[in-house]
Amino acid sequence: MINLNQENWDRIRGILVDEYGISKAARDAWINKLSVYSVEGSTVTLIIDDNISQLISYVRTKYEQPLKVTISEFFDEDCNVVITTNEEIRADEEKKKSALHNNKKESVPSAAAPNINYMLNPKYKFETFIVGKNNELAYATALAVASDPGEYGNPLFIYGGVGLGKTHLMQSIAHYIMTERPDYKIIYTTTETFSSELITAIKNRTQEAFKKKYRDIDVLLIDDIQFIAGKDSTMEEFFHTFNALYDRKKQIVISADKPPRDMVDLEDRLVSRFKVGLTVDIQPPDYDTRVAILAKRAELENIDIDEAALHYIAEHIVSNIRELEGALNTISNYARLRHTDHIDTDLTMEVLKDIIEPEQKKSITPDSIIETVIDHFNYKVTASDIKGKNRSRDIAYPRQICMYLCEKYTGLSLAAIGKALGGKDHTTVLHGARKIKEDMDTDPDLRNTINILVKKINP
Ligand code: ADP
Ligand code: MG
Repeated sequence: MINLNQENWDRIRGILVDEYGISKAARDAWINKLSVYSVEGSTVTLIIDDNISQLISYVRTKYEQPLKVTISEFFDEDCNVVITTNEEIRADEEKKKSALHNNKKESVPSAAAPNINYMLNPKYKFETFIVGKNNELAYATALAVASDPGEYGNPLFIYGGVGLGKTHLMQSIAHYIMTERPDYKIIYTTTETFSSELITAIKNRTQEAFKKKYRDIDVLLIDDIQFIAGKDSTMEEFFHTFNALYDRKKQIVISADKPPRDMVDLEDRLVSRFKVGLTVDIQPPDYDTRVAILAKRAELENIDIDEAALHYIAEHIVSNIRELEGALNTISNYARLRHTDHIDTDLTMEVLKDIIEPEQKKSITPDSIIETVIDHFNYKVTASDIKGKNRSRDIAYPRQICMYLCEKYTGLSLAAIGKALGGKDHTTVLHGARKIKEDMDTDPDLRNTINILVKKINP
């Protein structure tokens, strides 16, 4: 599959420059003025910056062929490259729109909103998403939002650990809306792409186009918003994009690795926007869901594997779905090398031996807990804050979480924990741990935070 995300696109341009001995001047003047507009099947459409669009035919003659070769080789897949201008695309869309009018939908393929097709993985659809207890609320909410964009919950905020299906679910929403409402303009993007496009736009003075691109749409899905932390201009721009869409009741979907209120690195005004809509979480899958996911994957990939072998994998690989799939792939590659069509439990055990056994348990100490907690809060608080005396809520809250986790998982006495946390009294530790325990009863977000942390500590 041709996946021209920012990283691949950068690499391809690098290869092109090397292989064709393109000078730095030519690279700045032409190559860096091209961006990916869409990928539909094997056709890659690149768009040239407005300020040099008069020179389109020169760029076409010179670079279309080299780009075609480089991209085809990079993905080991034949492709066509079309270089176009904003104006041509606008004209094309007008044409499609009027055709849409005349023919009453159907026949016309969905007008490609910039940035959507090439960022989407065709496998990430609702149909291929296995629903279990761990994700059923997230799934149902995503489907509701996809069915009535902008009406059901805005923004939809999906959070959960790595490899648990956030991206899959977000792209399912995009695919669903694309099919149901071909006239909708949808953008799925990652926070990193959004940010790097913004930087390019600032550099090339094309902010107006950037603004238009992201504000003049019906649905914006932005993945991994936690990476916006520390990027002030992106935060600023996103804030305005958010408001512009929100005010016009356009659907916004956001994903992150933690709930809004733990996003301490983000501006408060942004976090408070996130909280106005719906927040749903995805938890790690339980055993049955893991088996179901493996079975589905084996079916999709045509892997012939014993039921018992699937159970064996599901039993031993518990942390996330990406690893689960990785294990299945490793086994099936191994089987292919051995020219074995059918995978049984023996083969599975043999291959997984290395993955499963050596995992030595890390010992859990107050310091390792502090490290995990401050990492979760993106180092907004430091270990010395935790060990210090400052009682402001921003610090006291993670500190109490440390107390709770130490009390529960280190096996140390309250006094020893107090000592390790900067010489605190054992009653302080007891109080802090208890506070968290009580709050967890009434506060589902806190419960989730603790669940995520416990998973990271991995007792
Ligand atoms: P995240 O974005 O949360 O890190 P991804 O959406 O990238 O996770 O999921 C990792 C992999 O696991 C993907 O290949 C995805 O298709 C698969 N996956 C995740 N959840 C499910 C699910 N419920 N059913 C089927 N496959 C899933
Ligand atoms: Mg993801």
